[in-house]
Amino acid sequence: MSGYEQGVARTRQGVIGRLRTVLGGPLDDAAWEEVEETLIAADLGPTLAARIVARAREGRDSDDPEAAVVAELLGLFTPRDPTPWPRVPGPGVPAVVLVVGVNGTGKTTTVAKLGYRFAQRGARALLAAADTFRAAAIEQLVTWADRADLPVVAHRAGADPSAVVYDALDAAAARGTDVVVVDTAGRLHTKTNLMDELAKIRRTIGKRLPDAQPEVVFVLDATTGQNGLAQAKAFHAAAGLTGIVLTKLDTTSRGGIAFAIEDALDVPVLFVGVGEKLDDLLDFRPNEFVEALFA
Ligand code: GDP
Repeated sequence: MSGYEQGVARTRQGVIGRLRTVLGGPLDDAAWEEVEETLIAADLGPTLAARIVARAREGRDSDDPEAAVVAELLGLFTPRDPTPWPRVPGPGVPAVVLVVGVNGTGKTTTVAKLGYRFAQRGARALLAAADTFRAAAIEQLVTWADRADLPVVAHRAGADPSAVVYDALDAAAARGTDVVVVDTAGRLHTKTNLMDELAKIRRTIGKRLPDAQPEVVFVLDATTGQNGLAQAKAFHAAAGLTGIVLTKLDTTSRGGIAFAIEDALDVPVLFVGVGEKLDDLLDFRPNEFVEALFA
């Protein structure tokens, strides 16, 4: 089984299995309604589910309804940008990846996985522990960095996250780092708004590295469904997301949030988390994802 097939096994056996059973039978109005309900249960949301069904019913593939639904689902993904990711600002300037999202979604783990992944591909990566709200998050990132043999810049709990980022960029300049991956808080000590804090981090990066074009990656827990979508919208409005990492895909049987998020935000899902280990992060490729779901 490919990494994808394992990662989506629960969803394939869950909602997609149900979907295929209905699509394989006689498709009267009631059956199409069930298709719609199943798509809603898969976390696509009611509006999107209705749209998919309406289009699939109108479509040319009326003798193969499953193919019609699959084609509609695939069409929800935005075309992938072939330029390298993360964007490389220029010679001698490290790429910066800000990892944002609410606590518990897998943010810290994803920072470590991304750093590990860059290092595996020959880049010099550095981690920055700018989630200073929780001492545990700092310790966790330092532990991951040890395990992955990556340098990490960390201050004590409660420190100014922007100061951590500033120091990380200094360390990156000194070391000739290619990419800095920044863990950010999902909650704050002070009354400062989380979004203001992110804006401050961005200003710090802009001051220290005027040419940097930080990637802002939102970590979406695949098990949170439509709630996660609302969070993503809020972060997108405030911080301008450039990518999504969908975590814990391995633990859900609903897994359809990937479709809904691209449709709602027009921001690409770049990676999916399919486990708790450093290498349990897959490139998100729409075709492979959909093929694995319907394998
Ligand atoms: P944070 O609070 O957002 O920084 O979340 P953490 O990185 O601490 O992760 C929360 C929990 O989710 C931890 O137990 C992780 O091991 C787990 N986790 C993160 N990503 C994945 C994933 O892709 N699959 C699974 N099964 N667990 C994950």
